[in-house]
Amino acid sequence: MGRLVIVSNRAPSVDGAGDSGGLVVALKDALSQQGGLWIGGAPKQSENPADELNFHQRPDFEIALFELEPELYRDYYLGYSNSVLWPALHGRVDLIDVQPHYSAAYRKVARRLARQIARIVTHDGMIWVHDYQLIPLAHELRKLGVTSRIGFFLHIPLPDLQTFKAIPEWQELAGCLADYDLLGLQTQRDLGHLINIFRHTLRGELRPNGNMGINGREVVLGCFPISIDVRGFRQLAVDGAARTAPPSVPRLIGVDRLDYSKGLPQRLLGYETFLSQNPEFCNKVGLLQIAPPTRDDVDAYKAIRSDLEHLAGRINGRFGTIEWTPVQYIHRALPRDDLAVLYRYSRVGLVTPLFDGMNLVAKEYVAAQDEADPGVLILSQFAGAAEEMSDALIINPHDPQDVADAIRTALQMPLAERRQRHGALYSHLEKHDVAHWSAAFLKRLLAIEKADAEWLERFARLEPVSRTG
Ligand code: ADP
Repeated sequence: MGRLVIVSNRAPSVDGAGDSGGLVVALKDALSQQGGLWIGGAPKQSENPADELNFHQRPDFEIALFELEPELYRDYYLGYSNSVLWPALHGRVDLIDVQPHYSAAYRKVARRLARQIARIVTHDGMIWVHDYQLIPLAHELRKLGVTSRIGFFLHIPLPDLQTFKAIPEWQELAGCLADYDLLGLQTQRDLGHLINIFRHTLRGELRPNGNMGINGREVVLGCFPISIDVRGFRQLAVDGAARTAPPSVPRLIGVDRLDYSKGLPQRLLGYETFLSQNPEFCNKVGLLQIAPPTRDDVDAYKAIRSDLEHLAGRINGRFGTIEWTPVQYIHRALPRDDLAVLYRYSRVGLVTPLFDGMNLVAKEYVAAQDEADPGVLILSQFAGAAEEMSDALIINPHDPQDVADAIRTALQMPLAERRQRHGALYSHLEKHDVAHWSAAFLKRLLAIEKADAEWLERFARLEPVSRTG
């Protein structure tokens, strides 16, 4: 069997620092078993990037970094990826910023990266491309005659057809998605959207096996809900609790990148409604919101920060006393072991996104709980995680009353019910951890017949491109 090649916008660090959590944990085993290679963006841009990958050998797998010029990186990453695709795929078409040079940079990066990858992959290899920054990669690789199996996993949500059509290049993107051998999505919801997009854009036909016939080929589709290292995270929380004392009042916790998709203002409005309707809880609970900055250079992110700070200030001004601050807001990232113990010591986990591919915070919160006295997860119906985690209190984040009622229910929930809900959630997560996720995807990719020669020839006739061009 050939080499496994992972491709993502950002590579893991060359020295292994920061591996804990996230994709590296998920893919390390598979990569080290197969002499794997991880191709990803270098941590820094370069004024004169080399037109080849820069290799580094780690003990567990090899890393190959690609470099981009600062301007190209800005237009590809902050521009097309995060000012067009991220808002559109999260259903926020009001926030998209369409600029012709953004889409040109996005295609250019995929073309350049494909050229660099095509020089090093073999026919029997497997390529697994991650996420929305690199959708056109398989298309570009096929144009260069690469015959390996190529799979793609979308970590963020896929919206319905009408929303998808707000992206000016929607037809082109749908075509690029159809050039993969395997397409993995987080949820059945998103899979349904993809099938509809293929039907309308490419006259795709759903086959009885659940795959899609498109232009005479079969594209394999699958739903692969991503997860975390459940036991490892639980252990972090147990170890942390042995070192730290619990808080003096029951705490509600929110942990999110400061992103407009996370429903942070809606969460605070729900909490404000709860405090105003339940004055007996004033002084007796506190909300800890940890929201580190992200993509600060994009205007929409500045706006969400100011909305959140305004609301936190309003609630603290309205309900706070000399002894009690209702909202504690921390605008920075914390180490994972600190987060784990903060979750464990929080009576309520508040996860209220307006649209989210999965939401790993929901899974971390459950994994970190003490099974003898667990807290309660309040989870938005719009988080991908809600498909698997129906034993959480499922809410509509747009309705402050629903959020407020759930907070009250969670704080008053008897121990037996908390244990029953947590037990059901935890035992599901334990079986469906991140190792299960990556194994399921790779098994499907491995089972696919090699890309068919006739189809590749058709590609070559359409757009002859040299591997070194
Ligand atoms: P997204 O990928 O959109 O950020 P997820 O909930 O799926 O959302 O994943 C977020 C990850 O980032 C989680 O693993 C979470 O622990 C981590 N994270 C979020 N906020 C912080 C923070 N303040 N400090 C450290 N890690 C954080």
